[in-house]
Amino acid sequence: MHFWIMKSPSENNFLELAAPGVRALQPYQPGKPVEELEREFGIRDAIKLASNENPFGPSPLAVAAANAVIPTMTRYPEGSGHRLVARLARRHGVVPECITLGNGSNDVLDLVARVFLTPAHEAIYSQHAFAVYPISVQATGARAQVAPAHDGSRGPAYGHDLEAMHDRVGPDTRVVFIANPNNPTGGWLATDALENFIAALPAHVMVVVDEAYFEYVGEPAYPDTTQWLDRFPNLIVTRTFSKAYGLAGLRVGYALSHPDVAGLLNRVRQPFNVNLVAQAAALAALDDDAYLASSVSRNREGLRQLLDGFSALDLTWIDSVGNFVAVDTGRSAAEVYAALLREGVIVRPIANYAMPNHLRITVGSNEENARCLAALGKVL
Ligand SMILES: *Cc1c(COP(=O)(O)O)cnc(C)c1O
Repeated sequence: MHFWIMKSPSENNFLELAAPGVRALQPYQPGKPVEELEREFGIRDAIKLASNENPFGPSPLAVAAANAVIPTMTRYPEGSGHRLVARLARRHGVVPECITLGNGSNDVLDLVARVFLTPAHEAIYSQHAFAVYPISVQATGARAQVAPAHDGSRGPAYGHDLEAMHDRVGPDTRVVFIANPNNPTGGWLATDALENFIAALPAHVMVVVDEAYFEYVGEPAYPDTTQWLDRFPNLIVTRTFSKAYGLAGLRVGYALSHPDVAGLLNRVRQPFNVNLVAQAAALAALDDDAYLASSVSRNREGLRQLLDGFSALDLTWIDSVGNFVAVDTGRSAAEVYAALLREGVIVRPIANYAMPNHLRITVGSNEENARCLAALGKVL
């Protein structure tokens, strides 16, 4: 219809024009939206346990705060996110200059890559680590050093092998990405191991500890690395409002770091990357301790419910401290995923994480978990 689709490919080889790092990229595959599934299969009441979203709806305080600012949305948000930054700084006991706001924490991860990586540099992350790291790294043209995960002999299978990661540090390394806990595996690193790893890094290597699921973790040996910022100036900790705080659709996350590092991140940050509604809702969400506590405790019950159900189906899983769990279907999970879709249940296949037999299932409400388990029993 339009002239550009009629041009011959040779005249328009956009791939060749793209930055070298972008040419080999595959776009991030999000979980399938409920509306899309219902449209495709002509079904209703589908459930989505595919994107580690909070199943209980947002905090009423956040909703009220969002509604209150909607009439003012003709104005730009505050570019500095002043009030949210001040509130976060108080909560974490740091100066506001340590905080960098992001359009989701993915945005902050991307800022780190853009600030510290070039085609002459390298970044390190683990096999099975969160899919945004490779995307952000490769887009800069930097080389990725992927450390093999534990095979189960020296640490929990599929978990980050910090020794293997340390072995890959060289003069060109600028960034190490660590997800704690990791998605899609759900595994976590304990205080001693992570602290020793960071202490042993040379000063020219930034370490990003991605704590997207921090609020869910109840393990006594799980570290709050924001407490280490004074000691490790090369440490960047990322947090998000997308998971336990239930605001995934608004896109708010942030980094805590040395003020000089935050200053660099702010140089490449787009001025209004966190929108007006998101800033207001996030601020209010921080006041709703009851919502957070209830989300965390209901998640623990829901995880138990899923694991009991997996046991009854003779399935094994990777131990998880998050709001999701990777279950081994014992066969190619692609077919199980497709069969579950026909039952109106959306989960996440993770073959793109080199885990072709696993499905990542988000902990839902009691009812959603029951439906998912029933459907899983049926299709297996
Ligand atoms: C969900 C998730 C994030 C958060 O992404 P947002 O951009 O904040 O929504 C970050 N890291 C990991 C490992 C995640 O699973």
